[in-house]
Amino acid sequence: MKFILATKNKHKAQEIAKILGVEILSLLDVDNPPKIIENKKTFEGNALKKAQVVIKKYNLPAMGDDSGLMVDYLKGAPGIKSARYAGPNPTKEKLCKKLLKNMQGAKKRSAKFVCCVAIAWPDGKTKIIKGEVRGRIINEMRGQHGFGYDPVFVPLGYSKTFAEMKPSFKNKISHRAKAFRKVKQLILC
Ligand code: IMP
Repeated sequence: MKFILATKNKHKAQEIAKILGVEILSLLDVDNPPKIIENKKTFEGNALKKAQVVIKKYNLPAMGDDSGLMVDYLKGAPGIKSARYAGPNPTKEKLCKKLLKNMQGAKKRSAKFVCCVAIAWPDGKTKIIKGEVRGRIINEMRGQHGFGYDPVFVPLGYSKTFAEMKPSFKNKISHRAKAFRKVKQLILC
């Protein structure tokens, strides 16, 4: 069964195809891809909206995902606003600097990355799957790999930030890997 992933992000589509080990289409492979506005109040809501818009248009099994960083000291922020926390299309430097500024002096540094995946099938069935990785926010940016908040996030049990880890290693332990490994089990059985 071929799935279509509701993303125009080539990097994300390749990463997810690698985790799933099956061929998937993305919005880069279709004509007239829809513009999907992420306006729901939860990761689950946004992921489901993406999958439902795509299945409605192409009538193929669809997957939508939404992810972000939740910081305990900031009561769960930036959360669903992670991508636009420092304005539209911010660089990772801007995102990390804004986060570090808002956490200046904070002793409580715990945080988690969350990834929610919604799957929608043509018979109307839907399923939501979640992956999380807990960790802490350090006081400065470290490492050159990755994107978003990778330079300031150290996952629990490790001393390197996501940005200091090889992408192939991060992609084994990340919230996205955890969520899509569960998706793989579901769609292959
Ligand atoms: P989306 O799931 O593509 O909407 O991503 C939401 C935002 O969360 C991204 O733009 C990043 O700022 C942040 N984010 C999600 N996953 C990661 C990650 O693995 N590393 C760093 N930042 C992430």
